[in-house]
Amino acid sequence: MKQIGVLALQGAFAEHIQVVEQLGHRALELRQRRDLNNSLDGIIIPGGESTVIGKLLKELDMLDYLRHIIRDGLPVMGTCAGMILLAKEISYDSSRYLSLMDIRVRRNAYGRQLGSFSVDSIFRGIGKITMTFIRAPYIEEVNEGAGVEILATVNDKIVAARQKNMLATAFHPELNCLDVHKYFLNI
Ligand code: GLN
Repeated sequence: MKQIGVLALQGAFAEHIQVVEQLGHRALELRQRRDLNNSLDGIIIPGGESTVIGKLLKELDMLDYLRHIIRDGLPVMGTCAGMILLAKEISYDSSRYLSLMDIRVRRNAYGRQLGSFSVDSIFRGIGKITMTFIRAPYIEEVNEGAGVEILATVNDKIVAARQKNMLATAFHPELNCLDVHKYFLNI
């Protein structure tokens, strides 16, 4: 049984906790800096509002330490806002948060009208899954030279990628299936 920390400052953390527990593992809410001292096998950064989660991470003095343990190799999965927090580049936006993954993301990339939608598409290593996007970002560019692997695309836009211990999805896997979490638990 693995112990997975789920960042629980804002956003869709409850759904991730449910999936982790459904897969037979232990989920731990990460709400303050000392929660990061627990022995963890991985961390999930949920969807929500990246500006709000980022601001709270700074205010709670969690940002630098979180960056440090991920850089040290702790597996992390960032979904939607979580992906934005992991990215080194955010288009048309000078904010940077964890700044660990060699990807450039674009926030609210599908515009207002296409704010939320679901599609079935292939996730490399898993197969076809349903992907739900909620005011989602997508990845405009990855640095393959830095070891970023593209795992899924939808309409030619990159919506999932992995770089070593870091997994990022633009969609919300916790809403539709267990497979992406299983993939993450194998990292
Ligand atoms: N639009 C949000 C942001 O920019 C992300 C949306 C989500 O996580 N569902 O942070």
